[in-house]
Amino acid sequence: MTDLTKHSPNSPILLTASLHVDEARKAIAGLVNELILESRKLNNASDIESVTLDQAINRILAEDLLSPIDVPAADNSAMDGFAFNGDCLGSDEHIVTLKIVGTAYAGKPYEGTIGSGECLKIMTGALMPRGCDTVIPQEFTESANESVVGFKQNQVKRGENRRLRGEDLQSGKAAIAAGRLLRPSDLGLAASLGIAKLKVHRKLKVAILSSGDELRPLGQALDAGSIYDSNRYSLTGLLNRLNLDIIDCGIVRDDPVSLKAAFVGAASKADVLISSGGVSVGEADFTKQIMQELGDVGFWKIAMRPGRPMAFGMLKPVDGSKRKILFFGLPGNPVAVMVTFYQFVRSALLQLNGASQTEPPMTQAIAEAPIRKKPGRTEFQRAIVKRGPDGKPTVKLTGSQGAGILRSMSEANCFVILPHDQGNVATGDWVDVALFDGLL
Ligand code: AMP
Ligand code: MG
Repeated sequence: MTDLTKHSPNSPILLTASLHVDEARKAIAGLVNELILESRKLNNASDIESVTLDQAINRILAEDLLSPIDVPAADNSAMDGFAFNGDCLGSDEHIVTLKIVGTAYAGKPYEGTIGSGECLKIMTGALMPRGCDTVIPQEFTESANESVVGFKQNQVKRGENRRLRGEDLQSGKAAIAAGRLLRPSDLGLAASLGIAKLKVHRKLKVAILSSGDELRPLGQALDAGSIYDSNRYSLTGLLNRLNLDIIDCGIVRDDPVSLKAAFVGAASKADVLISSGGVSVGEADFTKQIMQELGDVGFWKIAMRPGRPMAFGMLKPVDGSKRKILFFGLPGNPVAVMVTFYQFVRSALLQLNGASQTEPPMTQAIAEAPIRKKPGRTEFQRAIVKRGPDGKPTVKLTGSQGAGILRSMSEANCFVILPHDQGNVATGDWVDVALFDGLL
């Protein structure tokens, strides 16, 4: 079989044998890497922009974010309790009694010094007063009134319940590494450092189009044999989760002239083109012909279900520039579009845009019922994962699993991913599960 791990832009991959999902992913990652290297040679300064935190969600951090301050900025209490000097602690249960000399609140420090035999009532986040290195939490005290508090000598160790200056982050060190797909916690972290803007990679421009004579736009009545174009809408939703610019190229008829014009148009303004439909055996012939003129594209039969036929490669713009664009020709079936996007396109877009972590997260759950599976292909079944009666996660397939049945996807909250060599799954077996929604 052809060595697909070495995808050369000058030798289109035309395969008859089925391609393992992992080989397809490797070939895609290889070509994306080539494109990144080539585009770095052409230009790169304009690939980075500075955005305010409210614009930064799901963008990719372009440079390490260095902390300008120590966090916390000073030693402070991790608990509500009493701060004192740990000299009075010991190894037995003797009761220490300390005089309460005042109170420190978060944002309202105690200015004085705490002496031997004394302590300070302290709230979480309040600065540690001079002379103190330990906090006894309120709930560990044996007795307390307005003026004195008592607790067992061995109830805490010196230094406990105190957050040290610079414990979370030190000034000058990376708080967030370059390549991070920015999540809500990263925005909060940047804000906690007083940073209002982040340097991110520019938004990718992704063109989408649907190909098929039977496709009608929304708002138009359906004539015999026609269907509404749904793929552009699911693709738009998927792409919007990545905060990039979408160029909608609409519906394109299955004829060489229209398709060529659409591809040429997309290649002149986008970084990536994603089409759906027109790559299955019966239809791919003229698409292949156009692709050979416009770029270097392989037509793959992938050993997966759904999503077997897929075209992948790069297009050269006809404007004479050296810039090349990534092309994904996804299958037309609505579920196959989403599966191939999830499995191949998402990671490629993240990689192309500088992300360091491109794999979607994966977990496992227990099959509630048997699942039929033939070895020799990777399957993406639509399912609902939930917590079972004993607290462990269980998973159950949603209805009919046909590649065209979008309802199976809409009702599901995860894929059950059955690897290439796997056979039938029995009730109670653990299976791989990829959740549709990330919570954080
Ligand atoms: P194709 O890959 O072009 O052979 O299409 C496979 C199946 O998906 C056919 O039943 C098409 O009608 C359907 N299909 C293709 N494109 C779309 C689309 N944009 N929206 C909904 N269904 C589609
Ligand atoms: Mg078609």
